[in-house]
Amino acid sequence: MKKFLQYSISAIVILATVVGLVSFYYENEAVKAMNRFDATRFSKADFTMSELALFCDIAFAGDGVRVRKWNKDIKVEIKNIEELDRKSIDEVDSIIVLLAPLVAPLKIERVKKGGNLHVYRNVTQVTSSKAKHEWKPRYVNGLSKINKATTRSWNITFACVYDGCNSCAQTLLHEFEHAIGLDHPINLYPDYLTIGRSVIPQYFRSQEEVQNFLNQPFYLSEQEKTVIRMLYSSEIRAGLHIDLFAKEMGFGEADIKRMFPNKGKKMEVVVYPPYEQRFK
Ligand SMILES: [Zn+2]
Repeated sequence: MKKFLQYSISAIVILATVVGLVSFYYENEAVKAMNRFDATRFSKADFTMSELALFCDIAFAGDGVRVRKWNKDIKVEIKNIEELDRKSIDEVDSIIVLLAPLVAPLKIERVKKGGNLHVYRNVTQVTSSKAKHEWKPRYVNGLSKINKATTRSWNITFACVYDGCNSCAQTLLHEFEHAIGLDHPINLYPDYLTIGRSVIPQYFRSQEEVQNFLNQPFYLSEQEKTVIRMLYSSEIRAGLHIDLFAKEMGFGEADIKRMFPNKGKKMEVVVYPPYEQRFK
């Protein structure tokens, strides 16, 4: 019995060591894979300097320093489809059509079951996992959640998007952009940015300007489309670190300050109050 116990303990120790070594090896390989970045090949893609600046501002959504993106097909499932009218469903389909060529070669399509991107439209309440002190404004037009990154993977494998009863398709499109790995911009850009909707109102001076902004049509500017294509190019891997990207792209100190305004900073973002409280 004593011997049996000794053997068992030795076997467990050996097994634990092997499992530990294997997982260490895979973790190292995963980190190496996410850090593979060929700046020369990436730079061959068709983008301007201002599009590159926008990319640096919004494409490092993982803690503000790492790329988050999908690496498998996105299956959009509308979870509360029974409660929705035709227009609300068509709007989801329109967003899918708009994003499909931008995330290629990945596919994005709507499915009836087994989705990995869940959509809830016209909701009245959403729980946020963010700590209360980080989440001061209680009212939002929409919300998006993605799976947490692990030490081995920064891939997005699951997401949920929500929009409220007073929200328009523009809000839903904004939430979809978060769900595919984009963050709010910190700098201002001359082109209209759907992903910039949460920050732009800070600069408006009148209710009329805000109203005009809210009435903007439902679309993505070419600049924003290019950035999504850049994010989904094969040269950019989930987990790519902002420092490595800057180094390989040959950015100097001044470039880094200009290109990564959000680096290392915790920003508070202004969100809209509900419609009826906006213009009191
Ligand atoms: Zn947002």
